Amino acid sequence: MGKRALVTGVTGQDGAYLSQLLLNEGYEVFGLVRRSSTADVNDVRLRWLGIADDVRLVDGNLRDLSGLIRTFRTVQPDEIYNLGAQSFVKSSWQQPILTGEVTAIGVANILEAMRLERPEARFYQASSSEMYGLIQEPMQSEETPFYPRSPYAVAKLYGHWLTVNYRESYGLHASSGILFNHESPLRGIEFVTRKVTDGVARIKRGQVSELRLGNIDAKRDWGHSKDYVRAMWLMLQQDEPDDYVVATGRTTTVREMCRIAFEHAGLDMDRYLVIDPELFRPAEVDVLLGNPAKAKEKLGWEATTTLEEMIREMVDADLRRLTLAAAA
Ligand code: NDP
Ligand code: GDP
Repeated sequence: MGKRALVTGVTGQDGAYLSQLLLNEGYEVFGLVRRSSTADVNDVRLRWLGIADDVRLVDGNLRDLSGLIRTFRTVQPDEIYNLGAQSFVKSSWQQPILTGEVTAIGVANILEAMRLERPEARFYQASSSEMYGLIQEPMQSEETPFYPRSPYAVAKLYGHWLTVNYRESYGLHASSGILFNHESPLRGIEFVTRKVTDGVARIKRGQVSELRLGNIDAKRDWGHSKDYVRAMWLMLQQDEPDDYVVATGRTTTVREMCRIAFEHAGLDMDRYLVIDPELFRPAEVDVLLGNPAKAKEKLGWEATTTLEEMIREMVDADLRRLTLAAAA
C-alpha cells in the first residue's frame, strides 16, 4: 500500500505542484478544499497539471477543528502538508483578523487534530521568509532572528513556533520549511511576478497599455515552486524533524525581474511601467536573501531553476493563456 498524504491548500500553487510530486512518488493524495459556490473552478491548477482526477478532494476548513478531526479519522494520513493560508501579504492589512484565524490559529487546529487522531504521522508547516521582515542579518538562515513586518508575517511566526513547540512538547514529527518567495505559471495573479508576466502578455497582445506597480526597489530571493515542493517532501523523509531555509541564495530587485519579463516579450519596459503610490505597503520588507546551506547539506536539495528561466516560462504561459482565451 502506498502512503497517504493530506494536503491543505491543495487548490493553491504549491498544493498543485506538491500533489503532482506525491502522485509520482506513489502516494494516495487527499486535498482539503474549503467549500465555496464556485466548486467548478477550484481545481483549475490541478487541471492545468492534468492531475485533477487523481487527487481526492475532501471538504474542510482550517478554521474548523471538528471538521479537521473528522478528516483525520477518515483519511488516516501518513504525511500532512499544511499549505493552506491567507497567503497574500498586502491583504493581511485589510483582513488582519481573518489572516490570524487561518494562517495562525489554523495551524493550531491542524496540529491538534493530528495530535489527537494521528500522532504518528509526519507534519510539514509552510513557514515563510516574510518572518525575517526587517532583516537582522544580510543573509538569512535558520539561526537568524525574526522581525515580522505584516499581519501575515506575524501569523506565520505563530504557526512556525507552534510547530516547533508541538515537536518539543509532544515529540511529533513536525517540520517547518522557511521558504523564500517561489513562483511559477500557477502563481496567484496578485503576487508581483505573476502580475508582471500577465501584464507583459496583455501589453504584447495589445489588450492593455501599461503596468502599474508599487515599490520596484524591493528585493526578493525568487525560486520555482516545482523545486521548492521537493524540499517539503524531503523534510518529511528524514528520520528527525527539523526546520530548514529553502532559497536560491540570490536576490534581485522587482525592477530587474520586470525587465527580464519585458525583454523576453521584446518590449521596452520604460514605455509601459507606471509607479502607483497606492500599491506601496504600510510597512515594507525591503530585501530578502536566504542561505540554503542546511537544506543542501542535510536534504541534498538545491534550486535548479534560474529566475530568468522561470520568468520566461511564466511569460510564455500567460501568452498561451491569452491565446486560448481568445480562441474560446
Ligand atoms: P496560495 O495562495 O496559492 O494557496 C493558498 C491555499 O490556502 C489555497 O488553496 C486556499 O484555498 C487555501 N486556504 C485559504 N484559506 C483557507 C482555509 N480557511 N481553510 C483551508 N484552506 C484555505 O499559496 P501558495 O501555494 O503560494 O503557498 C502555499 C503556502 O506556503 C501558503 O501557506 C503560503 O503562505 C506559504 N508560503 C508561500 C510562499 C510563496 O512564495 N509562494 C513563500 C513562503 C510561504 P482557496 O483556493 O479556496 O483560496
Ligand atoms: P511577498 O514578498 O510575499 O509580499 O510577495 P509579493 O509578490 O506580493 O511582493 C514582492 C515585493 O514586490 C514586495 O516588496 C512588494 O511591495 C513589491 N511590489 C511592487 N509592486 C507590487 C505590486 O503591484 N503587487 C505586489 N504583489 N507586489 C508588488
